[in-house]
Amino acid sequence: MIVLGIESSAHTFGVGIVTDSKESFILADERIQYVPKHGGIHPRESSRFLAEKAPAVIEKALESASLHPAELNAIAVALGPGLGPCLRVGATAARTLALFLRKPLVPVNHAVAHVEIGLKLTALQDPVVVYLSGGNTAVIAYVEKRYRVFGETLDIALGNLLDTFARETTLGPPYIINGLHVVDKCAESGKKFLEDFPYVVKGQDVAFSGLLTAALRAYRRGVDIHDICLTLREIAYNSVLEVAARCLMHTKKKEVMLVGGVAASPILREKFIKMAEKYNALVGVVPPQYAVDNGVMIAWTGLLAFKSGVVIDPKAAFVRQRWRIDEVEILWK
Ligand code: MG
Repeated sequence: MIVLGIESSAHTFGVGIVTDSKESFILADERIQYVPKHGGIHPRESSRFLAEKAPAVIEKALESASLHPAELNAIAVALGPGLGPCLRVGATAARTLALFLRKPLVPVNHAVAHVEIGLKLTALQDPVVVYLSGGNTAVIAYVEKRYRVFGETLDIALGNLLDTFARETTLGPPYIINGLHVVDKCAESGKKFLEDFPYVVKGQDVAFSGLLTAALRAYRRGVDIHDICLTLREIAYNSVLEVAARCLMHTKKKEVMLVGGVAASPILREKFIKMAEKYNALVGVVPPQYAVDNGVMIAWTGLLAFKSGVVIDPKAAFVRQRWRIDEVEILWK
């Protein structure tokens, strides 16, 4: 079976083509990324860029897989969660392809796709999943047909916290240099832990906007930026670690998987490996190339879903900006 998947939830337009009949399952992996000149991602600007590039990316993917479109078994698309205008670019392209080629259309939840590609690439069986990206912060575990959320951010995502601080203090963009976030890098020369920053874990949830405000205030007061970065990062990472540790205890799972763009942080990984040792758990980290948004994860999840009979009428394939991971029934497990 061969499935083409389209991702466009934020700044990436990705097209992946995968198969389940060969050892190397990736037949094509094409992507382009919108990089704002300044500030964060403006949904409309990003969507314009994605719409402009979409046809060429799709064409390139088919070319590099040496496939005729007729050989595809299905078209998969990320319908959410994400930025509405961006999601609609992928949805429109996928609906058009499905109708024109007369192929089934498979709806994919972007967050589920991050988990599934992680499982495929790390070969973990049943981990506690720590999903950290620019738009997401969640601790997730599979229980009875769903990926259930054991804890999440109540306000901004961890990636958003780091990127916003970097932007406001001109540490970035770019935010990641040689695999290291600029805040992580800056923290390396930090000497002092600042006492007055809020550490917020409420029940199983975390919150970062108070921490961001405290960090920016300290920066404007002239406090050493290295100390701020050190404090910011320690609090942010440790609060997620605390939630993940409790989830491990509660579910008695023996694996932890780090997914999402922030998961690439070597410092975060170290912390998780140390924590997991205490619980006799294994840590798996999704390779950076597939920890960020990509079309392969949508194609792969689409393939799994399609094999369990998941399809959608193109006329009903609307985007869902707030489509939660725990709303999806995982029929293929
Ligand atoms: Mg993502």
